[in-house]
Amino acid sequence: MDNKSFKDCLLQWNIDIDDDQISLFERYYMFLSEWNDKINLTSITDRNEVFIKHFADSISLLKFAPIYGKTLLDIGTGAGFPGIPLKIMCPECKVVLVDSLNKRITFLRNLIKELGLSDILCIHGRAEDIAFDKSHREKYDIVVSRAVANLCTLSEYCLPFVNNNGIFISYKSGSIDDELSLAERAIDVLGGKVDRLEKFSIPGTDIERTLIFIRKINSTSTKYPRKAGTPSKNPL
Ligand code: SAM
Repeated sequence: MDNKSFKDCLLQWNIDIDDDQISLFERYYMFLSEWNDKINLTSITDRNEVFIKHFADSISLLKFAPIYGKTLLDIGTGAGFPGIPLKIMCPECKVVLVDSLNKRITFLRNLIKELGLSDILCIHGRAEDIAFDKSHREKYDIVVSRAVANLCTLSEYCLPFVNNNGIFISYKSGSIDDELSLAERAIDVLGGKVDRLEKFSIPGTDIERTLIFIRKINSTSTKYPRKAGTPSKNPL
């Protein structure tokens, strides 16, 4: 995907990108490639694929949800997806990135310096532990997560961070019907309610995606999340 195709892909979603933002994505790609030789960050290394499967996919949320001026938390961000592409597109958003692997957090802190991003924080730790920190619990307008866990486990990681009437958005691919029905009870117990699903494909590809929007309608009981490891071993 050359820069024009990347721009065209976003334009089909009515998302504008300027030359400075394009150059930040170029630098992100170069930095990711350099560090990927030293530490395992992503199995996708081809330039076109990184621009489609990581950058465009991360940004796709903007087609469906305005995030201007919001506080946004990315749980299990890995090499920064979707949090960093969303920050590049919406610099006025306050973004927090969480990951349990410290080497990925080290990469992200260096990347943030390299790209000159401000109002963005990286936290090393597990969602299950950080959720009990008063400065993060129920403090975010939007919580996003991509490729981290099944929806049941993920809801237990993410919903405790969402503020009243805020939204948790899970990036999913493939068929999600069974996963969604298995997670319904957990979402309810955690104070959430499925608001809507947005299904789409990435322009110029046959890659199909679903964004699941879960609204926070009740405060999450302090029983959740359960201790680190339990939400994945024994989903609600
Ligand atoms: N979201 C990125 C993406 O879409 O490319 C990374 C996905 S990677 C498959 C999953 C990431 O979630 C890993 O970096 C892992 O360290 C992190 N992770 C898994 N469980 C976690 C937890 N309980 N709390 C915080 N991070 C977690």
